[in-house]
Amino acid sequence: MPWPPLRDALVGDEPYGAPQLDVPVQLNTNENPYGPSPAAADDVAAAVREAALGLNRYPDREFSALRRGLTDYLNSDGGRDLTPDMVWAANGSNEVMMQILQAFGGPGRTALSFAPTYAMYPEYARNSLTEWVAARREDDFSLDLDKARQLVQELQPAVVLLPSPNNPTGTALPPEAVSMLCEAAGNGLVVIDEAYGEFRRDGVPSALELIDTHRNLVVTRTMSKAFALAGARLGYLAARQEVVDAIRIVRLPYHLSAVTQATALAALRHAPELLGRVADLRIERDSTVEWLRDQGCAVADSDANFVLFGTFADRHAVWQALLDAGVLIRETGPEGWLRVSVGTGEEMAAFRAALTDVIATHP
Ligand code: PMP
Repeated sequence: MPWPPLRDALVGDEPYGAPQLDVPVQLNTNENPYGPSPAAADDVAAAVREAALGLNRYPDREFSALRRGLTDYLNSDGGRDLTPDMVWAANGSNEVMMQILQAFGGPGRTALSFAPTYAMYPEYARNSLTEWVAARREDDFSLDLDKARQLVQELQPAVVLLPSPNNPTGTALPPEAVSMLCEAAGNGLVVIDEAYGEFRRDGVPSALELIDTHRNLVVTRTMSKAFALAGARLGYLAARQEVVDAIRIVRLPYHLSAVTQATALAALRHAPELLGRVADLRIERDSTVEWLRDQGCAVADSDANFVLFGTFADRHAVWQALLDAGVLIRETGPEGWLRVSVGTGEEMAAFRAALTDVIATHP
């Protein structure tokens, strides 16, 4: 047995995470650059103070008030008559999806996604001893729906993980994909990861609309992105009640602290304010795409709050040169590509200025 006695599958692996560097312009983890107002922060603080007076007791294990709040919010953004017993939450949607794999994956079962995609998916599979299959996206990062359907039919994965929009490419799923894949998956779950769902284009439906129609559909969301609450760690899902009840079997008791529940509930009361810059961020995203194309870059169409662009012979050198200029972006995606999160107008101006200089020296 090696020391420390790490299991074989983990030997050589590094903990996942983007560099956390204290630089002036941070455009690397797809956060909302506009934080809560002092009034919202005061309300969160008051709610946490109230919770603090009861911290000698364990929190509400079923986080009933928060579930009601999340349900109301989802019903206002694509959900149709969802009820609190169809909603579940954990410490970030990462934990929500880890619980999904713990409940529905496992030895002898397969999880499927389509690469390039969110780099944590294979880690949920590894951690839950689920076999991981990554099929490929097309050159423009879209899915060939016929091929995807065939693969799902053949493999019959226990869980299909599909972000819409996809990270790191920003690609949205076409609306017909969700029903097609749910039908192909049989009793396997289709998880549509809408971490960036609020950034979708006007008129594009959320997969939440289809929860009534498909019993194997799960839609995950997070307060970390559009909701401007990454620091609070609150992710959630909507699905049929029997799916939620199955997840409750694997959750650790009291996994959502009283502080987290109070914070998230207070934030939900400020939803219009916290989400108030989403429209601006969409406009900034579209103008970033256009500007990058004008510079001669290849750019993936994005429905999210980030843009994948390239291609560079030495992307690390470009990333480093931007960092040297005080702009932190993400070295991720296929070889040669880089991802920039959409920041404030000022931050994007700093990004454009720095990249203009860098492109002149790193073609
Ligand atoms: N899904 C996708 C596609 C993401 O990009 C992220 C975060 N980068 C997450 C889920 C997880 O976010 P969180 O745990 O903060 O909810």
